[in-house]
Amino acid sequence: MNLIILGPQGSGKGTQAKLLAEKYGLTHISTGDLLRQEIASGSDFGQSLKETLDRGELVSDEVLFSILEKAPLNTGNGFILDGTPRNLYQAENLEKILQKINLHVDKVILLDLPYEESIQRMLKRAEIEHRADDNLETIKTRLAIYDQDTKPVIDFYRQQGKVLEIDGRPDIDTIFKDICNKLDSGVK
Ligand code: AMP
Repeated sequence: MNLIILGPQGSGKGTQAKLLAEKYGLTHISTGDLLRQEIASGSDFGQSLKETLDRGELVSDEVLFSILEKAPLNTGNGFILDGTPRNLYQAENLEKILQKINLHVDKVILLDLPYEESIQRMLKRAEIEHRADDNLETIKTRLAIYDQDTKPVIDFYRQQGKVLEIDGRPDIDTIFKDICNKLDSGVK
């Protein structure tokens, strides 16, 4: 089973992706984590990405796919992709990449969260994790990018009938159960 998890920043995508990876034996591929690892490695390539991430902007599609190319999409029980696709070009290109290796996306989990709640949750995370890209200005940049570039991706998958709409407001366990119920009743 191959899944994508989408939702605004602060919706808990990473947390749910980890839980789902564990339960269904999927490989969790977070492009944000992969990019942060590249930066932490101290490579020149990583250093060239740091400013973009710190500003809360997206890396180029070229950079994104150079990172994703190395990710283990074709292993075990499948993958859960977290943080990609962020725009329509990425969604279409991902389809092509998967087709070449005879894979497809089964379901897209959409964790929905109101704008104000995204901001509040990310400000809280900023206090706890001290991530350089979690301050009010970059949070707003990232949410604006989500609205403009990533929302069309949701429609792209809605047209394919693949989207599971999940309320991202309750606690972690409630959300997880909701996703599992919908996955277990929906994926053949
Ligand atoms: P995330 O942890 O998914 O919020 O990603 C952190 C940062 O990594 C984002 O703000 C972007 O700068 C970059 N990033 C992650 N995934 C992508 C992607 N699919 N396309 C472009 N940039 C990305």
